[in-house]
Amino acid sequence: MSNSGDGHSVRPALYPFMRPLRERSVPLKIVLLGATGSIGQQTLDVVRAHPDRLRIVGLGCRSRIDVLLEMLEQIQELQPGDRPLVAVTDPVARERLAASEADSHRLVRGDGNALVELVRTAEADCLVNGLVGAVGLEPTLAAADEGLRIALANKETLVMGGDLVAAAVAAGGAEVLPVDSEHAAIAQCLSGRPADEVRRLILTASGGPFRETPAAKLPRVTVAEVLDHPTWKMGPKITVDSATLMNKGLEIIEAHHLFGVAYDHIDVVVHPGSTVHSLVEFADGAMLAQMGTPDMRLPLQYAINGQHHWPLDCGRLDLTALGPLRFEKPDTERFPCLALARAAGRVGGSAPVVLNAANEIAVAALLAGHIRFTDIGAVVAEALAREPDHLVPDLVAVLETDRRARALAETIVHERSR
Ligand code: MG
Repeated sequence: MSNSGDGHSVRPALYPFMRPLRERSVPLKIVLLGATGSIGQQTLDVVRAHPDRLRIVGLGCRSRIDVLLEMLEQIQELQPGDRPLVAVTDPVARERLAASEADSHRLVRGDGNALVELVRTAEADCLVNGLVGAVGLEPTLAAADEGLRIALANKETLVMGGDLVAAAVAAGGAEVLPVDSEHAAIAQCLSGRPADEVRRLILTASGGPFRETPAAKLPRVTVAEVLDHPTWKMGPKITVDSATLMNKGLEIIEAHHLFGVAYDHIDVVVHPGSTVHSLVEFADGAMLAQMGTPDMRLPLQYAINGQHHWPLDCGRLDLTALGPLRFEKPDTERFPCLALARAAGRVGGSAPVVLNAANEIAVAALLAGHIRFTDIGAVVAEALAREPDHLVPDLVAVLETDRRARALAETIVHERSR
């Protein structure tokens, strides 16, 4: 990528920009991780819409065997005779599945990381990574190594290990296509345009359920209120992240790695309603925005199919019914996680790993009722302050930092909840 002197492109982009994507087989063989979660269910919807073009050959999840078996039944109807490979990471759930009567699948044993084993053995063309949190990193690296198309919904992968993924993608000939709706929107705005014409990325944020809540009330909001997202239907972890705006902070780091744009050239605007999914400003000041209904199946399909606008039955925007589009500056006083994430991204090295690990622990503690909503930012800030910055040159260093930061965040949560 060339650099025009604007300082906007500072690193090689993971996103292929104008490079043609690799030819893949038809139907496209998909290995789906996080199968029983929100992204997994919606991926199955997309496959169901295009059974002649998409096929599921592998499913991975943590422990929800009942949902998994239901999915396998649905896949049998779609793809008669197929027996997808299945990986389950929770040992108790895995034994339960092994003991079940179902013979609609083949269970991956694997002594180490079963999800990595699944990615390496499924003979897939495409990984859909819908895992939640740090557990998504290693399967992404394996898929990069195998040269797969990676439809990435697991943003923690890039927050923790953006540099590692970039190296593995370059070596393995893989392609990373974003599923995150903002990044998928940016990819659509960039379609056919060179990296050196990009001046600024503008990520939109719904603002979450507390966009208008006064600061004094935030410590007393309930978990149910936190989980009541105004526009998007998502899993609990990302819904909490949306309420704290940590989600947007993680997305800044994700955008930096995906598109190779400097942090100073990635902005966030609050856009209630979530109809403009994000924007790109080009060198001449022209701006392109991508709009659509807030439905995750759209960015999912666009990433899985190698960036095509296939038909999909998911509602249409009625422009005349929209009303005025509003864009506001985010409030980093009430939502400190946004600024914490941007700062951690700038520091790089261990800082984003610590940010992510501390956030995962804090979110789990909130959902368990151990801390208050406003404690999330405080836990993350304190973890970043207490863990010294250092380089994380390889996977071992990233995982070790992640482990240490989790332990530290647990201690901080414990101190705060007393
Ligand atoms: Mg998003």
